[in-house]
Amino acid sequence: MRRLWILVIVLVLAGGVHAQEITPGLDGIGDPYFPNLGNGGYDVQHYAIDLSWDDTTNQIAGTVTLEANPTENLTAFNLDFRGFEIDSITLDGAEVDWERDGGELTITPPESLTKDTAFEITVTYSGVPGEGVFGAYDVFAGGWTRHTKGVYVASEPNGASMWFPANDHPLDKATFTFEITVPSNYVVAANGLLQTITENDDETLTYLWQTNDPMATYLATVNIGDFVVQTGEGPNGLPIRNYFPSRIAESATQAFAPTADMIAFYNEIFGPYPFEAYGVVVADTDLPFALETQTISLFGNRIAVGRSSAETVIAHELAHQWFGNSVSLSRWKDIWLNEGFATYASLLWLEHTRGTEAFQNEVEGYYLFIANSNLATQRFAAPANPQQRDLFNAGVYVRGAMALHALRLEVGDAAFFDILRAYYDCFKYSNATTEGFIQVAQEVSSKDLAAFFEGWLYAEKMPELEFES
Ligand SMILES: [Zn+2]
Repeated sequence: MRRLWILVIVLVLAGGVHAQEITPGLDGIGDPYFPNLGNGGYDVQHYAIDLSWDDTTNQIAGTVTLEANPTENLTAFNLDFRGFEIDSITLDGAEVDWERDGGELTITPPESLTKDTAFEITVTYSGVPGEGVFGAYDVFAGGWTRHTKGVYVASEPNGASMWFPANDHPLDKATFTFEITVPSNYVVAANGLLQTITENDDETLTYLWQTNDPMATYLATVNIGDFVVQTGEGPNGLPIRNYFPSRIAESATQAFAPTADMIAFYNEIFGPYPFEAYGVVVADTDLPFALETQTISLFGNRIAVGRSSAETVIAHELAHQWFGNSVSLSRWKDIWLNEGFATYASLLWLEHTRGTEAFQNEVEGYYLFIANSNLATQRFAAPANPQQRDLFNAGVYVRGAMALHALRLEVGDAAFFDILRAYYDCFKYSNATTEGFIQVAQEVSSKDLAAFFEGWLYAEKMPELEFES
């Protein structure tokens, strides 16, 4: 690195730097809330994650290969990666120089990389995920969280690089394969479609899962358990495969029975379901959250105890496949584009299945939850302006959903649903911003909504909504 800077200075002095600049890639992708998350200078096309799991130590070991394209000429580049013992790193098959500093792994090739000439970087490592990791965002750790029946992995927002080397930001989506080797009494569920299960000589099995569509790193998941697999079909022949703990498979089957109807409903109001399959995995442990891991949402075992609220959570995670997974964030501060949309989508499902009155009552309850609260304003931050350390606050979810409901009242049902479809269509398989959504809303409704969105998305105090008494 130091040598390179001398080179750059010499080039600058020689006046030749502009034509053929060769620099190291930046150590961040430009997210103001996570300056070191993601990296500059390259675009990952594919992650091949090949890991063995030891059920006695919870250690993982193996290799992860990134296929990537330089987006500029590079003397060096960074990966995000924390913890673990690194055995070796190869670039296009040859050992390469590297060093680590906190969550940044810097690779220095013997010769600079050329823009648009693809490369492969393979990291061989071992260790216990999440161990020795400090300063992490405190919502999800990105660990392989152990429970009595196996493991689940939830990595939002920045936990992916705590179990595999990555360009760890939704701005760089890529396809994935997972080759996960486990003792033969376990089953593995990951993203995409299961391709093969290979029996090895040492009483282990290797599960090969593969995604068709690019995915943000935080949505990658590996789940290990004593699952039974329940398969079904959604609209247009969409494969649905659910991974349920054997102990509660029957009640889980009941809880998730509306899934195909939900997909049909969202197909109609948002646009066609974006991926090759859907389904869920239920970890046999009590989770305080559910996560929309792409094509296979993750739930804890309380989803299967027959609560009526379960349907809302199930609809919420499904709706994220459109809003959050296909339409990804460009920066984490815009998290309301995921959570406000998924929360409102679950209310729309309620309206669809239980009618206008039940819907109105629920919306009023959500609204009053924010409006009547005397709790600190920070917890109910303006949806588009959450604190960095409090991204998942109720303002993002509930007030975010209320902002969409207020928009519906402002522009009318027809324009509102046109806006949802147009926004989805504009940003599917890509990345959106709050500004991009506002622009679509204004264009589709032919209204100047600047003051409306200022109040609902940015002002500290939530605007008022009127309800019929
Ligand atoms: Zn959500």
